[in-house]
Order: sequence, then structure tokens, then C-alpha cells
Amino acid sequence: TMAHSKSLVVLENFIGGTFVPCSSYIDSYNPSTGDVYCRVPDSGKEEVEAAVKAAKAAFPIWSSKSPLERSQILNKLADLIEHDLEAFAQAESKDQGKTITFARTVDIPRAVYNFRFFASSILHHTTECTEMATMGCVHYTSRAPVGVAGLISPWNLPLYLLTWKVAPAIACGNTVVAKPSEMTSVTAWMMCKLLEKAGVPHGVVNVVFGTGAKAGEALVCHPDVPLISFTGSTLTAQRITEKSAPHCKRLSLELGGKNPAIIFDDADLTQCIPTTLRSSFANQGEICLCTSRIFVQRGVYSEFLSRFVAEAKKWRVGNPSDPTVDVGALISKEHLEKVRSYVKKAQGEGARVLCGEGVDSLTLPTGNQKGYFMLPTVIAEVKDESCCMQEEIFGPVTCVVAFDTEEEVIKRANSVKYGLAATVWSSNVGRVHRVAQRLQSGLVWTNCWLVRDLNLPFGGMKASGIGREGAKDSYEFFTEVKTITIKH
Ligand code: NAD
Repeated sequence: TMAHSKSLVVLENFIGGTFVPCSSYIDSYNPSTGDVYCRVPDSGKEEVEAAVKAAKAAFPIWSSKSPLERSQILNKLADLIEHDLEAFAQAESKDQGKTITFARTVDIPRAVYNFRFFASSILHHTTECTEMATMGCVHYTSRAPVGVAGLISPWNLPLYLLTWKVAPAIACGNTVVAKPSEMTSVTAWMMCKLLEKAGVPHGVVNVVFGTGAKAGEALVCHPDVPLISFTGSTLTAQRITEKSAPHCKRLSLELGGKNPAIIFDDADLTQCIPTTLRSSFANQGEICLCTSRIFVQRGVYSEFLSRFVAEAKKWRVGNPSDPTVDVGALISKEHLEKVRSYVKKAQGEGARVLCGEGVDSLTLPTGNQKGYFMLPTVIAEVKDESCCMQEEIFGPVTCVVAFDTEEEVIKRANSVKYGLAATVWSSNVGRVHRVAQRLQSGLVWTNCWLVRDLNLPFGGMKASGIGREGAKDSYEFFTEVKTITIKH
């Protein structure tokens, strides 16, 4: 009906500094109500072609600006997003299902900080120089932006992860074509509205909305896009690797995880339990860094388990816009079904579900009955070979198992295809270092979780990715180095 269509948010692509309507659209759902509330352009080759063309045209001017000029523009953009922080947070929560509290305190502040961080770090890079006196030569390296960067981001931390790519890409002098997840495109579109005011020249940031199969793949296959920065699933990364191979593209791949927490007998449980609850269930468990395998040493196993389950039951699930709610809605109906199916499989294999899905009842407010909600779920007595211990579930589900020795737990923690993040809990400094060294994981947090210094490398081993992001790492990814020799 007209009344219905009027209330829909309709997004447009942002190409060459202009909002452009698309010939077809995808429905986007509000995960907390199950209603379609937004229409996202269903872009394809044609739209990607136009965006790449605009980005290519903008490259000569943008890349020749000084780092300081670019830095000032990034800072301005950060200020503008921060000024609208509440509107961005509301939009992110509605679009993604995450709690308003999480969007307000994590997603949007981090998006702002991503711009400030790279606005600053871009000013502090130096390059190498070496002398070869016997040959009368000096060698030095110079770094230059690569060209049009293709940026593809997922739905779990929409603006946070998109800006973690846009900021370093443009700070380095590249121009970009970004493709956010078709399920969470609203905040990227809102950011486009601020670009002109921030002083970002037309064509420097282009955003093309649509599905991975159409818009994403058109970007990956475009001959004039020499680098692709991708965050998403391992399966999609394999496809992107194949599709980009004929062009020898530079790839940065930030993928899934099956992250262990290792809790030794001497761990401080008063710190460990609340942090491990957060690491398991924050953002509905939809963070690549979330813990989903908790190994607890035999001596504290039963105490840990009873305290952990008692606390998990206190997490409130409900309307994401209610600031007292801890767990919002999962991204989609399909995803909710998938996450639930893992709990069923575990039960079928004889594991014990101690709280949550299928065990406790969930009461939802009237307006949220059709939302994609699920209680934080703790499963015990799961076999290491079980799909629940091997595959990324990406929901509020965590498995708790017992172990005896350090040697044993390292082996078990490493026996998955992923290698993104791990946490180690122990008050023995020697053990903490030993275990951290031997874990196959790009990030190891000991006695804490998700404490980040954006300067340092972020990324995964094994099926969790290729490459690292961070001050120096992103700079290196988004620039091409050249070695120049001068004979005097
Ligand atoms: P996804 O791989 O399904 O989609 C990610 C993005 O890729 C989306 O924009 C999607 O439209 C696009 N895409 C899909 N198919 C494509 C194709 N053939 N060509 C080009 N683009 C394509 O992932 P998702 O479900 O959106 O996100 C969840 C996944 O992301 C989880 O596995 C999670 O662990 C991972 N993740 C990793 C990190 C990290 O930093 N390592 C951070 C967040 C999320």
C-alpha cells in the first residue's frame, strides 16, 4: 500500500558525489520486529562500473594531496559522525538488531575513532633509506597509493568495519568503491550524506549497495580495482580469491573464527567469568572475536560452569532499543534457524544444554514477537569433533568442556581450521607466555578480552584470514612500495 511504502527507508547508491537511484531493490528487515522497513539498491555490473569510473577520475587529485590535507578531512568527517552519534546508533540498532547500548558505546564511537586514528597515524610513517658507499649509491623506498580500492564488509559491525577500511584507504590517498552488506546498509548511506560537508571530494568515496553475488562479485572482477579488502566469511573469501586470481589482485581477508578461552585452575574467576560471558554473548555472539569454545581445567570446572550458567541466565533478551536489554535480535530469520540448528545437533549428539535455547522460555514484548531472538545458550559435554566445536556458529551459543594439562589444551585449542583470537586465563606469568606463544591464533588476550590498540596488527591465521590490519599494516596494504636507487 502507499502508506506502507511511504514509511520505508529507500537507499540510493552514492557515485561520484551524487545519490543515484537503482532500477531494482532488495527488501531489508528490522530483525527485532521481522518487518521490511528499508529498500536497498540491488546493484550489479552497471552500477559498479559507474562507481569505479568515478573513483578512477577522482584518484589523481586525491592522491596528490598532502597527508595533512587528507588528515584534516578525515578528522572533519569524524566530527560530523560524532555529532550525529545518536542518530547513527539508533539506525545501526534498528538495521542490525544489536542493542542500542552496544551501538552507542561500541559501534559508532569506534567508527568515529577509525577516522581520527588514521587521520593521525598517516602523518607519522617514515620510509627506509640505506647507503651503499662502495657503489656511490643511496637507496630509498617511497610509498604511493595504489588506486581504486574495493572494500567489502559484513553485517555484524556494519559502520565499524566499513570505516576500518575506508579510513586507511583514503588516508593513504586511494579512492574507494565500498559494498556494505545488503542486510545492513543504512549507516553507510547516512555516512555518504556527510562526505561533502567534511570536504571529501566527489568520487573519493563511492558506495554501491547490493548483494555479494551481484554487486560484490562485479567489484571483485573489475579490472580497474587492483586491491580488495574483505571482511566476512571464509567461504566467501575462497570465492573472492578464485574470482580475483586472473587479475592478480592484492587481497586482505579478515574471516571467521572458532575462538577458544582457556581457563586454568589458578585463574581469577571473578574477572574471568564476567569477561567470558561478554566474550561469548556480546552483540548476540555475532562478533568474529567471540569465544565459542571454553576449556576449563578440571579443578575449577564445576565451579566455573555453575557460576557461568547462573550469570548467563541473567542476560536480558528483548527489544534492542530498550537500554536495559543485553541481547538484541540476530541478523535474520535464516541465521537464527542456523544457530538454533547447532543447538539441536549438539543435543542429538548427547551434549547437555544448560541454559537458553530449548531449555528456558523466552518472553518477548508484544512488538517483538516476530523478531529473531534467542537466549544465551551454554552447552557442556560436547565432543571436540562435534560441529558445534569445529564450525563458526556466530550466535549466542558457547560450549564449555574440561581439560587436564597445559599440553593437552594447547593441542585441543589448535585443532580447528580457524585461528583468529584466543583468551588465556591464569595468574602464572610463565604459563601465560608459554601458552600464548603456542596457540595458532592471530590475537591472544590473556586475562582480558577485546582490549585493542589499533596501532598493532589485527588478523587471523589459518582459515581466519590473510594479512593484517593496523596502523602500519593497513598503511602497507593500501600503498605500493617502490625502491629507488640514486647513484651520485
Ligand atoms: P559474508 O561472507 O556472507 O558476507 C560479507 C560481505 O561479502 C557482504 O557484503 C556480502 O554481500 C559480500 N559477499 C558475499 N558473497 C560475495 C561474493 N561472491 N563476492 C563478493 N562479495 C561477496 O559474511 P557475513 O555473513 O556478512 O559476515 C559474517 C562473517 O564475517 C563471519 O564469518 C565472521 O566471523 C566474519 N567476520 C570477520 C571479522 C574479522 O575481522 N576477522 C570481522 C567481522 C566478521
